[in-house]
Amino acid sequence: MAQNGTTENGLPQNLIPPPLPQPCKISEIKHTKIFINNEWHSSLKGKTFPTFNPATGVKICEIEEADKADVDKAVDAAKAAGKRGSTWRRMDVSSRGRLLHKLADLLERDRCLLATMETMDTGKPFLQSFFVDLDGSIKTLRYYAGWADKIHGKTMPVDDNFMCFTKHEPVGVCGAIIPWNFPLLMFMWKIAPALCCGNTVVIKPAEQTPLTALYTGALIKEAGFPPGVVNIVPGFGPTAGAAIAGHMGIDKVAFTGSTEVGQLIKEAAAKSNLKRVTLELGGKNPCIVFADADLPLAVQEAQKGAFYNQGQCCTAASRVFVEECVYDEFVRLSIASAKQITAGDPMDPCTSHGPQIDQQQFDMILELVESGKREGARLECGGYALQDKALFIQPAVFSDVIDHMRLAKEEVFGPVQCIMKFKNQEEVIERANSTHYGLAAAVFTRSVERAMRVSSALEAGTVWVNCYNALHAQAPFGGYKMSGNGRELGEYALAEYSEVKAITIKLNDQLTV
Ligand code: ADP
Repeated sequence: MAQNGTTENGLPQNLIPPPLPQPCKISEIKHTKIFINNEWHSSLKGKTFPTFNPATGVKICEIEEADKADVDKAVDAAKAAGKRGSTWRRMDVSSRGRLLHKLADLLERDRCLLATMETMDTGKPFLQSFFVDLDGSIKTLRYYAGWADKIHGKTMPVDDNFMCFTKHEPVGVCGAIIPWNFPLLMFMWKIAPALCCGNTVVIKPAEQTPLTALYTGALIKEAGFPPGVVNIVPGFGPTAGAAIAGHMGIDKVAFTGSTEVGQLIKEAAAKSNLKRVTLELGGKNPCIVFADADLPLAVQEAQKGAFYNQGQCCTAASRVFVEECVYDEFVRLSIASAKQITAGDPMDPCTSHGPQIDQQQFDMILELVESGKREGARLECGGYALQDKALFIQPAVFSDVIDHMRLAKEEVFGPVQCIMKFKNQEEVIERANSTHYGLAAAVFTRSVERAMRVSSALEAGTVWVNCYNALHAQAPFGGYKMSGNGRELGEYALAEYSEVKAITIKLNDQLTV
């Protein structure tokens, strides 16, 4: 077990009662088709695409591929399900909440199967799927289930001759395009607030990881959501994804993925119907360690930030700034900690480090490692492909990284920790903010005063103090600058999924009292 109440998996000990959960046997993947109107559909063009297990390179199954025509069909279903007078629109708001709770119950029932499937499709360690991804998914559903009957308008005092109030109404058909690093969790981050506000959804999982989204389609039907309320269109970005972003029948699109694709989504939204857009994009997140910090804690959390999910996180702690006088010690402890990580079969509950998602990402990460070496950073350990294990990379620690290097500027999306030195608070704030990104940041210090001043000065949507990757359904999440627009989670997300209508009633001034 590692220090400070966490296991080698980076999971809190109290989350893991013995015996450890074990993956299920999945003999056959049942849900591989497009999910529209609570039914399974073949691709209109008759196309399929394979999905692979990144730990073995073995094909898991073929998936029906949605293209523009399938997206059109899904949008028609979503429109009909959400139109005035429909079962969904007429449903008592607390029943909407009950449906979300029911879906959460079904996720709990099938937790082991979903976690196994998630690990199969992404390569993430099974215990992380079981505890972190499933836990986050269930809590997100339950959090928004609770909001369904608490979405209130306001009354505004105007003058005596008018009654003026607001109603919060659904936006309509919400498109969602999600990435491969947290497939089930991102699915829930998108559908839960959308449904609690009364919208209908057309969602595209990433082409690398469609399995848990499609399985959830079956659970959505079983929970009793009316047909067409959630539609799932597995397919590729430039086809199905672009069809969602540019669709005239979609009223809002929520996207999580790269900044480059985020720009395309916004452009497509602008050029079609000016649909509302929320974006959760990349990050180059600073993690600042002051000399007065609890150093072992900072080492552990910064490394969790860098390597969690094989470093495939938009929140990854990819620039670790360490104050000069503790720098050498921090580097020494970080190397020792990284060397203990052994990659292995992600289905083994003892594994804490799995493979990268695919060959393209794998090659890109190793290319950035090479660039770091070329540019003069010091590779202290790791950073190489594990020969016998395709797509596995031994976690890397770089010291002496300088701000102008590619490693310090580009999102790596892999298990590469970059450690940099700083002299004083003002300097590190300047350097930390000197990026187009602004998703997350962290500060390690024992001084409350410093924690407050530095967290206020950092240009990021989330700032963690003496912790990393602490995400909760209740707290808003999103980016400053080119890390995104809008917020997911928490009460803040409700505004992204609601239209506000102001109703003003003229009172009869003959009837004054
Ligand atoms: P990554 O580089 O991490 O794979 P992407 O931004 O490419 O991230 O992909 C995130 C999601 O965006 C995936 O579901 C992908 O299919 C989708 N996507 C990719 N390109 C486009 C596009 N041109 N239009 C819409 N969606 C896209």
